Amino acid sequence: MSYEKSRQIIDTHCHPQFPQYDSDRQEVIQRALDTGIGMVVVGTDFETSQQAVELAAKYEGIWCSVGLHPNDNLDERYNQSSYEKLAGAPKVVAVGEIGLDYYRTPDREKQVLQKHRFVEQLELAEKVNKPVIIHCRNAHADMIELLRSRRGLSGIIHSFTGTIDEASHYIELGFCLGFNGIITFTRQYDEVVKRIPLESMVLETDSPYLSPASKRGKRNEPGHILEVAQTVSDLKGMSFDTVVLETTKSARRAFHVY
Ligand SMILES: [Zn+2]
Repeated sequence: MSYEKSRQIIDTHCHPQFPQYDSDRQEVIQRALDTGIGMVVVGTDFETSQQAVELAAKYEGIWCSVGLHPNDNLDERYNQSSYEKLAGAPKVVAVGEIGLDYYRTPDREKQVLQKHRFVEQLELAEKVNKPVIIHCRNAHADMIELLRSRRGLSGIIHSFTGTIDEASHYIELGFCLGFNGIITFTRQYDEVVKRIPLESMVLETDSPYLSPASKRGKRNEPGHILEVAQTVSDLKGMSFDTVVLETTKSARRAFHVY
């Protein structure tokens, strides 16, 4: 795989602060940075958000986001003022990951709770004037309706697994769609990847999850983003370099990082 160090690529969604990396975090991060891969370390609760802020402070080429995930700790009380304080830390580029997940939360009452928590965090994003990183599973109709009612927000629909139609709604609302290892091991999203323009597409790994085809079943890491880029390049019939260049531009635009 041809890849020049100078040509930076951004893993727009990863969790190297998670315990899966306790024994070799530094090596994993350094390996990616040395290959010219920058990353956005994404928080999923207060603790992992704090850890994301710490990692961003430590390394050049790392940015971070803070937020409370729709699944993780549905019992954790969401405290707007502590997240707001954290969102003011240097190199926090987004509020996330936040969203709706009706797949893992089928219970209607809990979905209501999830929605409340999500809306509160959309309000936080508006207040601190930052984009959002959205997790959405089996809830695109509600999600699109919610985002449409709050124009002015922008950001990324991470790990996009919706339809072309849903994709166009998000794009029209000013959102980018994030693709990861999933597109390397299923053909289900080939059409979506082919049809979405690179200017609305960003790449991610979602490490430690969703390892690409060649690393299936193993822990994922930001360096594996090259395989995602290669798959996009194959599907679109565009050069690897073009995919990297254009999706990195999209990421920088989405996070206002230049
Ligand atoms: Zn994630």
